[in-house]
Amino acid sequence: MQCVTSTAFGPAELLHRLRARGTAEASPITHVERVPPRSGRQAPWPTWTDPSVRDAFAAAGILAPWEHQASAATLAWEGKHVVLATGTASGKSLAYQLPALSALATDPKATVLYLSPTKALAADQLRAVARLGLDGVRPATFDGDTPREEREWVRQHARFVLTNPDMLHHSLLPGHARWGVFLRRLSYVVIDECHTYRGVFGSHVAHVLRRLRRAAARYGSAPTFVLASATSGDPAGAASRLTGLPVTEVTEDTSPRGGVTFALWEPPLLPQSTLSVPAQSVPAQSVSPVSSGSDDSPDPADAESLLVDAESLSVDAESLFVDVELPPIRRSALRETADLLTDAIVAGTRTLAFIRSRRGAEVVASMTRRALDEAVPGLGERVAAYRAGYLREDRRAIERALLSGELLGLASTNALELGVDLVGLDAVLICGYPGTRASLWQQAGRAGRAGGEALAVLIARDDPLDTYLVHHPEAVFGRPVEATVLDPANPYVLGPQLCCAASEAPITESDLELFGGPAAAAAVQALVEEGALRRRPSGFYWTHRGRPDVDLRGTGGAPVSVVESSTGRLLGTVDQGSSHAMLHTGAVHLHQGVSYIVDELDLDDAIALVHQEEPDWSTHARDVTNLSVVNVRSYVDAGPVGLFLGEVDVTNQVVSYQRRRIGTGEVIDTRPLDLPVRELRTVAVWFTISPEALVRAGVEPSDFPGALHAAEHAGIGLLPLIATCDRWDIGGLSTAGHADTEAPTVFVYDGHPGGAGFAERAYAVASEWLQATREAIAACVCEAGCPACVQSPKCGNGNNPLDKDAAVKVLDTVLVALNPHL
Ligand SMILES: [Zn+2]
Ligand SMILES: [Zn+2]
Repeated sequence: MQCVTSTAFGPAELLHRLRARGTAEASPITHVERVPPRSGRQAPWPTWTDPSVRDAFAAAGILAPWEHQASAATLAWEGKHVVLATGTASGKSLAYQLPALSALATDPKATVLYLSPTKALAADQLRAVARLGLDGVRPATFDGDTPREEREWVRQHARFVLTNPDMLHHSLLPGHARWGVFLRRLSYVVIDECHTYRGVFGSHVAHVLRRLRRAAARYGSAPTFVLASATSGDPAGAASRLTGLPVTEVTEDTSPRGGVTFALWEPPLLPQSTLSVPAQSVPAQSVSPVSSGSDDSPDPADAESLLVDAESLSVDAESLFVDVELPPIRRSALRETADLLTDAIVAGTRTLAFIRSRRGAEVVASMTRRALDEAVPGLGERVAAYRAGYLREDRRAIERALLSGELLGLASTNALELGVDLVGLDAVLICGYPGTRASLWQQAGRAGRAGGEALAVLIARDDPLDTYLVHHPEAVFGRPVEATVLDPANPYVLGPQLCCAASEAPITESDLELFGGPAAAAAVQALVEEGALRRRPSGFYWTHRGRPDVDLRGTGGAPVSVVESSTGRLLGTVDQGSSHAMLHTGAVHLHQGVSYIVDELDLDDAIALVHQEEPDWSTHARDVTNLSVVNVRSYVDAGPVGLFLGEVDVTNQVVSYQRRRIGTGEVIDTRPLDLPVRELRTVAVWFTISPEALVRAGVEPSDFPGALHAAEHAGIGLLPLIATCDRWDIGGLSTAGHADTEAPTVFVYDGHPGGAGFAERAYAVASEWLQATREAIAACVCEAGCPACVQSPKCGNGNNPLDKDAAVKVLDTVLVALNPHL
């Protein structure tokens, strides 16, 4: 195999070379941020450090802690709950290892519990702690892979137990009696990567931690919580919501780091302004909706394939073809990423490309492979795709190949973000904003060898948030505004969690405070009325024999297995929430760059049977959504404008799919589907505007639907700016007149039962959110709306109607009403 050394081409030269790809007046690079190298600031070992621990670290080459490590560790040692929120590779583990291991050394009976979101990360930590070789610590993982016969040993002897919230929930807490000795001596609970506990999953974990605190108290301990987080807005607030405890934050990173050149990249506009299409075909943009009232259900079916080949549109001058005006369209971020990845690999730069969707990762890998093989036959083999849903053995093999240099490039989903220890990469390409600054920096942090320079490039997708960010670098590099959102009061989380708690030990009046006060009291009352709990003088008891069946990940059922019919081979899995849109009968499914067609989706058995086929069309699911208001929790009366937060019932059904020609987007046909309706009670934020105010703002009644629809799309697109969600977590519906509000209305709702806190956050900072939305639309260079402003990749209405200019008027009307002083 030909060996390309990774030092052949440094990040700086690579950027220079990439920059040369644009023209002088239209460089794709909108901003270059130079994150300078930083020399670290060390602190002496805190005086309380146990000498054996200090010696062990010294033997491992750590002669003194960084300042931030020492201050977080000292707070923890003093018994204060603390969260350390600093960048990747800033040495967060030392900050909790120091107090935890010192406690174990000082008190021979003390124990420590470590929680990580993934088994891989726990395994990394186990190795790190074991390598210190401290006597009597006896670190051990306790997870689904721990053999039965070892579990007893872990319970009785291990003093540093590494596990995950799922294991705590399913095994440790229900079996707390067997863990009594461990819990009685519990001095520290470490929660690593705590920013990953967000949304519904985060809300569940918040209650698992309250159950842990209750169990520990029952056996006589009150452990100190030490949390490690990626940088985020308000880490102390998020950590407090997660643990239910007052938490102090440490956020200044004093570790040294190599310089990073961070470029923001907007793919160039394509030269074509018209497109020739067969006269009898209809361009996708102008197709009339197959259904009305349906819009933007939160289904992560991705529409990347529509744009994959957009720039290879051939302009065939056949007489049967007519010219169609197209909105200015940018080169797809996927193709741009594949080209940059190709350039980087040809230059010998070891590069990782992060792609948001699984399908996108497959597409980029296969495009890169093809381009490399054209340049140097055989070079294509040195690129692979990597994503969740691959089988474990396949993933390990890919990781090994990248580490050994056998692979030079990888197109990966964020499955690689946590817990996989990859070093020695020179450049990271981030195709599409990953949704949070925490993820962005986590991904960018993959680039850079010890002390070396690194390159990170964020390639904007045709999406309102991405477009906003590449033109507002201060929103990327400035102070983080987004916060990790979770909502422990979600009734769909609280009720089931209280059942779990009651099945572990009866819930007493004083426990109610721990689980949320009045909300918990109301939920317990409801559970008593349902017969799930029974009230006795000593507390509320779980009435059933078995354990409550509660899934922390809240994905709504088992993932659907994708199986090749002819061979019975399991290709991978897709979560159930996405399966209707992604694996419906007839859907095109990509796996490792190979295309399959779904023959049958069997929802009862959670299996999709597929066969290999390479059609020249892509598939796009269409759905119908209805919404009704259940109650209003809070509202702002701003004259002609009303802003509301409340509960809503949403029904959604994937009803059909379109087949579109790859390249032109031409709709071949629309085929019906017979999938069940899904129902969701959730939380929504919505605003209403009186028709008179809209007319005064210059919006004609006939333009109301397009104006509201466009504002809704952009609003959903910009929501991740203020909360750690992505647009797939959110749904929306807009209407010129809604039966429950009796006014033109835009609804934006959480895509998870009971809500995950996103709508609440949008309501709390509505002006900030809608202002950014307004700016994103107004600043877009397109004429009549494009994917970078008001079009949505998951619109169930085929992005029709949309009125970009009128959407700005809608948002101005709302903003002026909400902020009359401005
Ligand atoms: Zn636009
Ligand atoms: Zn829509």
